[in-house]
Amino acid sequence: MGAGPVGLFAALCLLARGVRPLVLEKRREPRPGSRSIGVHPPSLELLDALGLGPAFLARGVRVRRGHAFGASGEIGTVSFASCPGAHPYVLTIAQEDTESILADALETRAPGALQRGVELVSIAPHEHGVELVVRDDHGTRTIDAAAIIGCDGRRSATRVASSIASLGLTYEGAYAMADFPDTTRFGDDAAIFLGAGGLVESFPLPRQWRRWVIRRDAEGQGDVTIEEIADTVARRTGHRLPRNEARAPSAFRAERALATELARGRVALAGDAAHVVSPIGGQGMNLGWRGVATLADALSGALARGDDPTSVLAADAITRARAARAATRRAELNMWLGRPTARAVDRDRVVAALLLQPVASVLARAFTMRGLEAGV
Ligand SMILES: Cc1cc2nc3c(=O)[nH]c(=O)nc-3n(C[C@H](O)[C@H](O)[C@H](O)COP(=O)(O)OP(=O)(O)OC[C@H]3O[C@@H](n4cnc5c(N)ncnc54)[C@H](O)[C@@H]3O)c2cc1C
Repeated sequence: MGAGPVGLFAALCLLARGVRPLVLEKRREPRPGSRSIGVHPPSLELLDALGLGPAFLARGVRVRRGHAFGASGEIGTVSFASCPGAHPYVLTIAQEDTESILADALETRAPGALQRGVELVSIAPHEHGVELVVRDDHGTRTIDAAAIIGCDGRRSATRVASSIASLGLTYEGAYAMADFPDTTRFGDDAAIFLGAGGLVESFPLPRQWRRWVIRRDAEGQGDVTIEEIADTVARRTGHRLPRNEARAPSAFRAERALATELARGRVALAGDAAHVVSPIGGQGMNLGWRGVATLADALSGALARGDDPTSVLAADAITRARAARAATRRAELNMWLGRPTARAVDRDRVVAALLLQPVASVLARAFTMRGLEAGV
């Protein structure tokens, strides 16, 4: 359910494991925009397994290093070079490109498996499957499925229809971001500024663009403008951004949420429908992908054996919830580092210590989402 990045990825995983998926998406057209941009090494390995790694690498930028700047200038560098595996970097790619690669692959491998303009209205689980009530241009109809994976976002209709609660909070602090032509000397490196005034993050994007994220000066500032972002970046970092060509300014609050059950019977929740982690650190989509990869293993195995999948989905849900809690803790560390502080020089010393070996290797692994399965 839902053709966001997680629903499309889930369908491809199921297909690769011999299960025929049907993806229902209420939007008629794909969503434009760069939104979530960071694809971490474990996700690139999952994409390789689906035969999609090369398509992603061809449309993204490989970020191999991140520079940290504090109140006293450059504090140090995190290098992902020593990270294990075939992809010692974070790939940045616009979410519209991510979704288009996944949707094209699904359409090629299973024509008709993606149906747009179809909205889930309600579900009625029964002993041998789940009956879905959906609405499209022709009216309301029912679909019978062996199981349903709700990848329908943070306001998930699947979750609401299952009466599963989602518990969470909105963190203090407000953020904003926009993409600008890249006029820096950072090249393919990321940069994080932890000055006294608050966080600024800067990531390379394909075709010589750069994403800038700021922590806003105050909450309740209303809609964000290019001017606010460019002025804040200039004040905190000294970088003058080319405002006339900037695109996609958006404001967001950081939230966390976790559904009280990630699976019940033949209904499973995944991606933001199951767990929302703060965007600071860029983990939500990646967490969703690793979750649906194991979920697809569990579900396809049970269906191939002719078993009721209830117990394997429940066991898998425990592992996924543990990974979500670990990702939440990592995101909270990122946000703590980016808070405005009157003691910025003290924080610089903490960050400098974190960037010394061997701690830096641990940090690089954490930033690239290694070890989540252990729940740390
Ligand atoms: C500013 C920002 C930056 C981010 N950066 C990153 C990043 O760099 N890396 C990262 O990993 N994550 C990042 N994230 C998080 C990431 O965007 C989300 O975790 C991810 O989009 C979740 O994908 P999803 O498929 O679960 O849900 P969504 O992307 O929300 O997709 C859900 C889909 O379900 C459809 N739908 C909803 N209801 C119904 C219904 N009733 N019937 C049919 N269809 C329905 C929707 O139309 C939508 O297409 C960022 C988030 C924000 C806000």
